[in-house]
Amino acid sequence: MVSEKMLNLGKKSSIIREIFEYGRKRKAEIGAENVFDFSLGNPSVPAPQKVTDVMNRLVAETPADVLHGYTSAPGDINVRTAIAKHISEKFGVKADSGNIYMTCGAAASLTITLNAIVEKGDNVIAFAPFFPEYRVFVEQSGAEFVPVSCKTEDLQIDFDAFEKAINKNTKAVIINSPNNPSGVIVPERDVKKLAEILENKQKEYNKEIFLISDEPYRELVFTDEKVAYIPAYYDNSFVCYSYSKALSLPGERIGYIFVSAAMKDSADVFAAVCGAGRALGYVCAPSLMQYTIAECLEDTADVSVYEKNRKILYDGLTDIGYTVIKPDGAFYMFVKSPDKNAIDFYERAKKFELLLVPSDDFGCPGFVRIAYCVDTALIERSLAAFKALYEDYKNE
Ligand code: PLP
Repeated sequence: MVSEKMLNLGKKSSIIREIFEYGRKRKAEIGAENVFDFSLGNPSVPAPQKVTDVMNRLVAETPADVLHGYTSAPGDINVRTAIAKHISEKFGVKADSGNIYMTCGAAASLTITLNAIVEKGDNVIAFAPFFPEYRVFVEQSGAEFVPVSCKTEDLQIDFDAFEKAINKNTKAVIINSPNNPSGVIVPERDVKKLAEILENKQKEYNKEIFLISDEPYRELVFTDEKVAYIPAYYDNSFVCYSYSKALSLPGERIGYIFVSAAMKDSADVFAAVCGAGRALGYVCAPSLMQYTIAECLEDTADVSVYEKNRKILYDGLTDIGYTVIKPDGAFYMFVKSPDKNAIDFYERAKKFELLLVPSDDFGCPGFVRIAYCVDTALIERSLAAFKALYEDYKNE
């Protein structure tokens, strides 16, 4: 009657959504201030005032057929030109409007990119810990999803595991730095190593292997670690960008795909991206949001709040005794589970009203993820609950 695959996807929501829904119920029962909900990566900082001002001006001044009309399928030409200019100036890579395809956020950027490149029999690699929706997006495109484990001491790429996983059917590799769920940034030396391996594999298999950089957290960096701009290191690359986190606009659904100008047959690949956007029924990205972000390319929300939260939480948790992988960016933190099984740890944390996400679905068991994009005061209050939880283990 219906597609079994879609029925299963629709019925089985992600564990993050399940925890979020549990949190909603619990907050109604005992009051929102008493639940320490660290489940969801929903930005807690408002969009910059400039976004509101630009939107208000556009609404007041733009003719209705432009404001609410369709743009061309890859996006408004002036918006794409502005983004291409921004990319070339900021990262020193060649880019023009013909390399930019406007999308409804990073999720759409990823699904369109995957559908543009995947053919029967392909596989796509992602490094653990990974955003769980990658599996859904890759499998929906028709490819096999191949997770590669990480080094558990620092959550960085395990290159031995990677070289074992890559094979002649590998069409693409997804990299996500700063990372959701760990907040870790892949250092430049590892990006260079990855590019070198991929170049060699392309030669060995006599085919293109694409590198897809999923980077909604690019602007959320709290250390001196450089976030390498992937197209500057590897020609056959895509950037899947989003304004959901940097400008705190997740509900507005706006982002883009940058098809590297240096990519082999770049114009054909771009045409395939247009084809995939068409086949998936995106039509065009929201017009008002396209015009808005084009005027806010240098802006971000006040991400210093996340930096403050990160410090309070990291210092507080390590003082208590938890082992925490110190994040460089994004607004996530990975904490080692004191229990062998992170799902048991997550269940026990719930008794202390702490909502943490067990890491099993991120492809890296044994940890929980804390999304610290919440009120700083909630983080401060939560430390007593974290301490009580830790002592509950110690007193066993
Ligand atoms: N990729 C990663 C790593 C994410 O964390 C998210 C959202 O949380 C997305 C993609 C999807 O982002 P968007 O809201 O731009 O579709």
